Amino acid sequence: MSIPQHLKQIQSSLPEHVTLVAVSKTKPIPDLMEAYNAGQRVFGENKVQEMVEKYDAMPKDIQWHMIGHLQRNKVKYMAAFVDLIHGVDNFKLLQEINKQAQKHNRTINCLLQLKIAEEDSKFGMSPQDAQELLTSEAFLALKHVNVVGVMGMATFTDDDTQVKQEFTRLKMTYDTLKPLHKALNIISMGMSGDYPIAIRCGSTMVRVGSSIFGSRNYN
Ligand SMILES: *Cc1c(COP(=O)(O)O)cnc(C)c1O
Repeated sequence: MSIPQHLKQIQSSLPEHVTLVAVSKTKPIPDLMEAYNAGQRVFGENKVQEMVEKYDAMPKDIQWHMIGHLQRNKVKYMAAFVDLIHGVDNFKLLQEINKQAQKHNRTINCLLQLKIAEEDSKFGMSPQDAQELLTSEAFLALKHVNVVGVMGMATFTDDDTQVKQEFTRLKMTYDTLKPLHKALNIISMGMSGDYPIAIRCGSTMVRVGSSIFGSRNYN
């Protein structure tokens, strides 16, 4: 099947309240343009430089999401255009995003990344860290960031029960944070291998790469 066919099939399986982020990391611009021409407008990348190059080359009505682990010194390169940063896992990073957004006279939308997986390799904050951040004076002083939701990655495993437990943990954390910070309305969870489970657990945004664009070659 072609990229547009894969896209159409996935889109038609998603409930209306779920946003599809087409994860295009490592893929060449012609592949992204196939998705764009099929109507896709939200793309996710995990490297700042690659996202900047694609932003420069592609139509300007695309919403670019940074989904990867982000270093503070890279924020400035995308601050002018990034639509949503999924992987915010510490206050210093949020401060830097605020500073760079201010320079461009804009407000940048962010998600707090929570650690839900058993695996040590996954980044993220604890529910308590997130709660402390959202209620701190220092956070309330940041006027150029909007924290609009949470993001998480489940363990890479065939064990659906474990994946379901981890996604449920993120949904429950979201439910405890929401009363503290009313602007929360996004739960970003689910990738090619597990997005149907994520949706059943309450996901409102899925990040799907290989099921749209095919498997990646990192060489
Ligand atoms: C690569 C990536 C995805 C998409 O992965 P697929 O398995 O190809 O769908 C989703 N989220 C993050 C954070 C990623 O890095």
